[in-house]
Amino acid sequence: MTKKPFFTSGLKFSCNRCSSCCRYDSGFVFLSEKDLNKLMFALNMDKDSIIKTYCRWVTDWKGDEVLSLREKSNKDCILWDSGCTVYTERPLQCVTFPFWDSIVSSAEYWEIAGTGCPGINNGDLHTEKEIESAIEMRACQPIINRTGADL
Ligand code: SF4
Ligand code: SF4
Repeated sequence: MTKKPFFTSGLKFSCNRCSSCCRYDSGFVFLSEKDLNKLMFALNMDKDSIIKTYCRWVTDWKGDEVLSLREKSNKDCILWDSGCTVYTERPLQCVTFPFWDSIVSSAEYWEIAGTGCPGINNGDLHTEKEIESAIEMRACQPIINRTGADL
């Protein structure tokens, strides 16, 4: 982020585990190699079986094929069953929500995200440094991309 962020005084967020962001709506949960390794540990499965059972290849905004979790027919995340079944090993995208570049890039996007998440603007105050650190963590763990790769 090059311009001064709107959250220099921090942002309030505490997850109440309502599961709204894991259910009901279609969406992508992108996976990095580290995420896959964590899922291998949580599900006690090898990488190929996890990709085959729980994942799908989707097209990103650049037109590349990238790895995401699947959804059930009712749009719930494939790993949701009365709560996240891999909570302690859940993907970094889930861990860092709502401190995503796409959400904290403006106060307006932050407020829009808040309409779907009761944890936004409530609870613990997260400092600018914490928020920047969440964004950097994701930037350091690229999503698995099979465009041009042998996967
Ligand atoms: S919608 Fe917000 S409060 Fe509900 S589980 Fe997701 S992050 Fe937590
Ligand atoms: S992996 Fe877990 S936390 Fe992430 S969307 Fe699926 S059920 Fe929700």
